Formats: sequence, structure tokens, C-alpha cells
Amino acid sequence: MRRVSVFGATGSIGQNTLDLIRRRRAEFKVVALTGGANIAQLAADAREFGADLAVTADEARLGELREALAGSGVEAAAGAQALVEAAERPADWIMSAIVGAAGLAPGLKALEQGTTLALANKESLVTAGPLLMATARAHGATILPVDSEHSAVFQGLIGEDAASVERVIITASGGPFRDWPVGQLARATLEQALNHPNWVMGQRITIDSASMFNKALELIETHEFFGFPPEQIEVLVHPESLVHALVGFNDGALMAHIGPADMRHAIGFALNWPERRHLPVERLDLARIGQLRFQAPDETRFPALRLAREVMQTGGLAGAVFNAAKERALDAFIAGKIGFMDMAAVVEQVLGSLSVRPGLIQGAITLDNVAEADHLARVGASEAIRALQAKG
Ligand code: NDP
Repeated sequence: MRRVSVFGATGSIGQNTLDLIRRRRAEFKVVALTGGANIAQLAADAREFGADLAVTADEARLGELREALAGSGVEAAAGAQALVEAAERPADWIMSAIVGAAGLAPGLKALEQGTTLALANKESLVTAGPLLMATARAHGATILPVDSEHSAVFQGLIGEDAASVERVIITASGGPFRDWPVGQLARATLEQALNHPNWVMGQRITIDSASMFNKALELIETHEFFGFPPEQIEVLVHPESLVHALVGFNDGALMAHIGPADMRHAIGFALNWPERRHLPVERLDLARIGQLRFQAPDETRFPALRLAREVMQTGGLAGAVFNAAKERALDAFIAGKIGFMDMAAVVEQVLGSLSVRPGLIQGAITLDNVAEADHLARVGASEAIRALQAKG
């Protein structure tokens, strides 16, 4: 039986992961499940799967979790340190699907155990890619990408010589605002941003898709995970979200990965790797779909893409600054404090101001330095947000 743990089990990726595990229950032993605020879901899943351990990120909710698990035999724990300890529990396969920078420390701990880490938490690669990859190498661990674009690139590279790759193209649906003019984008509401045309995802990533911050994170993720230089990585807008990525080779061939817009495909690929096994996803009828459209992204309307290129060029801790400033700006947009286009303005300002601080961005990528860069970026972003609010 394969021992599996799911970090971020109560979220969109976590629930899709459990859906796949549920269908082949007899093959898996669930070691640890983790969540945040959704104690009822966490407890229900821990009971259903007979997990050894359930952890909520929220220390104040430990009593509630214990109560919800009473009589089940599932151990309860809470807090950031408990999440890291849960990653120490021996498991053969661990899903990293916590949202945000909080996913980094448990992911690193999991890699130190030499496990196979299915990585959905893109923020880990963006904030500390070199550290994550070096930790995996040092401990003989395997990282499998779960983001659909990166899973597609990974699949496109199987059996290929990386030296023959000329370019990698990741696609973007363009989100609900694909064709909106800048003036209208500035007035976009939270409700409109949450209305993604193709994918059903968590709230934060859905808004990041509308602003293309999600694609910006994915550009950096591609660079960090596969090691391709920034100039070899392109973004292509593809409204149907069926071609997830293309790999271009030195003989002119472009290998496209086409699959349904269902995260269970990429999750299932990582769960079954190195085999391919049946997955309960739609089989595409391309004749019915009829056309696949592509267009160049507009970096004026979606400045996040330009900022991501700056981050890749700068390297070091710029990714940690970028991600933290983006998270704070996103919180402010969700809270109605700033407008949709202000998110990129805040991030750009923070990147600009922290880039000039000697030693900060170019510091070694350690957990402590990432935490410091993250903290300073959040402080900077809060100031920028207050200034924008004061301007009205
Ligand atoms: P959700 O918001 O749906 O779920 C996030 C999970 O993380 C939940 O289990 C949540 O708990 C938990 N969580 C929230 N805050 C914390 C915290 N501070 N510490 C520990 N756990 C926390 O997100 P998604 O499932 O959509 O995304 C998860 C990750 O996967 C993200 O990094 C995202 O970018 C990436 N991803 C998602 C895709 C998708 O289709 N959804 C596609 C590709 C990548 P609770 O809900 O109980 O509060």
C-alpha cells in the first residue's frame, strides 16, 4: 500500500486529490491530511480515509478539531510547526496544495524525507525555487509538477534531450477580462474577477488568473523547475484552455499537450507517475470543439507578465518579494481597498523599492532570508496600499 499525505486537503486541489484516492481506496494508506479554516471538511475527510493525523494551520482551532475527531482515533494537531512535523511522517507520496507562501516549509521538510512531492503550491518554487530543487537533489527526492501547464511541459519532455529544446510555451486562458480595455479593467469588481470562463479553482488563484498574476507565477515556476532561461519561456493566450503547454524543439517541431480543463488530469498524472493509468476525466471530442484559438498576451493590460520577467532576470529573493507583495495586494483587492489594476502597481512599487536595498534581493535563498524578504515586501505593500487609499 502506498502511504500518501495531502497538504491543503480541504482546498480545491486537495479535494480533487482525495477524489482520485477515494476511487482506489484499497491502494492507499492516508498518513496526514491538513487544512486551514475548514475544520468540518478536514475532520470528515480524516475520518473517511482513516488518516493517522489531521492538522489545521490555525492554532486557535485545535480544540474544535479535537472535538470533531473525537472517538475516531485520528490524532489532531495545529499550527505552522505541526504542519512541518506532519511532513516528517513517512509517506511515499505527498501532495503540496497549501495556498500561498505557507506551503514552503512543509514542502521542504517533505523533500528532506526523500519522498515524492506532487507540487501544486507554485509559491514554493517562486519564492525559493533554487532551495527547493537543491533540497530535492540532496535527499534523492522527486518533485512532480501539478500545475497543469508544468505537468504538460513535463510530459512533453519525457524521453527528450533537454538540450534540443528551443522554447517552452505555457498557455493562459486570458481569464474573464481577456478582451477588456485598460480603463474597464481598472473598475473590475471582485465578483467579475471570480467568474473564470474555464476552470473551477480556489478564490485566490481565480483572481490571480484574471490579473495574469497566476501566469506570472507560472513563468517563474517554469524557469525554476525546468531551468530554462527566461528568454526561452513564452506565454500564449488560448481561450479554450485545452492546450496546456507546448515544447518547441530545434528541428522546428512543437509538441502540444492537449487535455480537458480538469485538474484531476495533472494530479492523477503525478499520482500514477511513472505509469499512466485510467483517469475519470472527460475525453475531448476535438471535432465538436472545432477550433483552438491563440493570441499574444498584452503586457500593458496585464503588467504582471512584465514584472515576472524582471523577477526572473533579477533572481535571488526577487521571487519572494514578488509573491509576498502580490499576496498582500490581492488581500487588499478582495477587501475592496484597492482596484484591480492597483494590484500590479503595488507589486511594481515594492519590487522597485526593495531592489535598491543592498544585500536584500541578492541574499542567499534560505528559509530565514525568504521569510525576511517576504516580511519586508508585505510591509512595503501595506504602505503602498495605504498611499493608494489616501489618494482615493
Ligand atoms: P484553495 O484556496 O482551494 O485551498 C488552499 C488550501 O490551503 C486549503 O486546504 C486551505 O485550508 C489551506 N490553507 C489556507 N491557508 C493556509 C495556511 N496559512 N497554512 C496552511 N494551510 C492553509 O487553493 P487551491 O486548491 O486552488 O490551490 C492550492 C495551491 O495549488 C495554490 O498554490 C495554487 O496556486 C495551486 N494551484 C491550484 C490550481 C487549481 O486549479 N485550484 C491549479 C494549479 C495550482 P482551508 O480551506 O481549510 O482554510
